[in-house]
Amino acid sequence: MKNFLARQRQEGFFTLRLKSSAGRFSTAQLAAVNELAEKFGQGVVSLTSRQELSIPFVRREDFDAMESFCAEHELKISPIGTIFKQVTACQGTQTCPAGLIDSPRTALELERRHGGRELPCKITCSVTGCPNNCMKVDANDIGIKGAVKPQFIQENCIYCGACARVCPVGAIEVVRPELWTIDRDKCINCGRCVKVCRKSALRGEVGFKISFAGKIFPPFIGDEETLYRKVDAAVEYFAANAKTRERLGKMLERLGAEDFNERINAVQ
Ligand code: SF4
Ligand code: SF4
Ligand code: SF4
Repeated sequence: MKNFLARQRQEGFFTLRLKSSAGRFSTAQLAAVNELAEKFGQGVVSLTSRQELSIPFVRREDFDAMESFCAEHELKISPIGTIFKQVTACQGTQTCPAGLIDSPRTALELERRHGGRELPCKITCSVTGCPNNCMKVDANDIGIKGAVKPQFIQENCIYCGACARVCPVGAIEVVRPELWTIDRDKCINCGRCVKVCRKSALRGEVGFKISFAGKIFPPFIGDEETLYRKVDAAVEYFAANAKTRERLGKMLERLGAEDFNERINAVQ
């Protein structure tokens, strides 16, 4: 049975956590959280690192009443334990000028697929809207980043070399008069070359990069459905192979990453 109350160091007290919707609460929900904390806690609400709100100093015997209150006010209680944790997200294209992908939408779909699933150990997952990586997604078990794959339009290029100069990994080589090459294995899909080109000779295809345990970085993914299928495959692999309380990174160290990589790359 899932547990929804985190034990506190203070005898007899617990903390209740409430899920956000990819980092958001409506003002009506916030008003209800206020009431909940006044009624059942000590009038204090804090933020968790997973974009939840937590209400400390509640009592176990009040759980049923808190559950009814939450259902009435459209608040979701977050389970605790070795589960697929709430997916965190930046605002991406919903409000951020730099956004490449709709991070909250992606996070909510991942939450729908896996949120709260019981696993051998917890999985953390985060979505960030562009290579600025405000969410520091590589520190999660599964990190997703909006990314750009540059496409070269030869007839517009004047071989000025600006794209090669801004590339942080030296993936582009420009040789006058007419040689432009890109090393796709080196490219980290940051999109800087596309931004700097004044001649529309580089078009950016928007997609996703995933990282697993901050160690494994499969190639650029061009569409959302493939992204979800790859995450599904990774979670299934973890569920089948991880030992109890063994994080994804530790499992990959123990088993080696080859088989995992093959499975993920086979998903198209
Ligand atoms: S990661 Fe990019 S899209 Fe997300 S908040 Fe930061 S700058 Fe904006
Ligand atoms: S910046 Fe644009 S025009 Fe200049 S070399 Fe690169 S692709 Fe060609
Ligand atoms: S997308 Fe970034 S890493 Fe890739 S070639 Fe352009 S500047 Fe270099």
